[in-house]
Amino acid sequence: MTSDEYNDCGPVSGWDLHCHTVFSDGTKTPAELVDIACAKGLHGVAITDHDTTAGWNDAQIAAQSRGFPLLRGSEITAQDDHVSVHMLAYLYDPENEGIVELFRSTRKARIERARRMVSRLAQDFPITWDDVRDQIKKGEKTTVGRPHMADALVAAGFYRTRSEAFAGAISSSSKYYIPTPSPTALRVVQVVRQAGGVSVVAHPGDYSRNRRLLSDFQIRRLADAGLGGLEVWHRGNGSDERRRLLKLADELGLLVTGGSDWHGAGKPNELGENLTGDDVVAQIVQRGAIGLVS
Ligand code: AMP
Ligand code: FE
Ligand code: FE
Ligand code: ZN
Repeated sequence: MTSDEYNDCGPVSGWDLHCHTVFSDGTKTPAELVDIACAKGLHGVAITDHDTTAGWNDAQIAAQSRGFPLLRGSEITAQDDHVSVHMLAYLYDPENEGIVELFRSTRKARIERARRMVSRLAQDFPITWDDVRDQIKKGEKTTVGRPHMADALVAAGFYRTRSEAFAGAISSSSKYYIPTPSPTALRVVQVVRQAGGVSVVAHPGDYSRNRRLLSDFQIRRLADAGLGGLEVWHRGNGSDERRRLLKLADELGLLVTGGSDWHGAGKPNELGENLTGDDVVAQIVQRGAIGLVS
């Protein structure tokens, strides 16, 4: 089967370019990610933890030992005119000063925001910062987010699952919610480009995480600044949005990618449920500052 074959969810074979591990809010290690991707017969996989490269080394060791292809990347927290935006970035130089500073400041802001949110939650749910820290699997290397607060609420018996907590106290519409101060999407596109990487807007059609989506105008502005692609094949994008995004990608010459947004046991999304074609991966590799691992 080649990735020339498509169904409503995108290519029927290829790579999963959107996966989280214990280095952010996933529940599995990078080695487990590589093992499961390999067992599922994917052509390759990307590690894309939030605002970090901390899992790259473990993923690289696992990929090399199994001879399984790996793209190194991240999902970068951003905003554009009050719209929360996630930017996938691939194959950038991890030592680039702009990238290092971006991650340092967002990760610091995430911890401060988490501590403030826990103080708010503690008014109604008796949990402490230590309870949240107990849910963080790799200490300071892990990028902290709401899923760790959700896990603390589950461990304390207030909810049965992470998703239940996300539908309740952890929701972005709850009174406990505080957004993470984030760089603009435009700045992220520029920094990733300067670091030699390829940026892709993650789940740009997902109304479950934003009341308002990036407009065509906002996406055009990012494309003018060097945006590489749009993640069209993602469970959060509705069919009308997929059509709109495919049209925009065509018009702006953007790559069309797909990924599951896998979080292990932390979300129902199955590894490989959405894929990126081999031809698109080849273009990312061609443009990237660092190579594919295999
Ligand atoms: P944060 O970036 O700290 O605001 O947390 C948002 C993260 O929570 C995103 O990366 C999502 O992957 C994750 N998330 C959102 N909704 C859910 C859900 N229903 N269940 C589990 N994780 C979720
Ligand atoms: Fe996440
Ligand atoms: Fe995301
Ligand atoms: Zn994600």
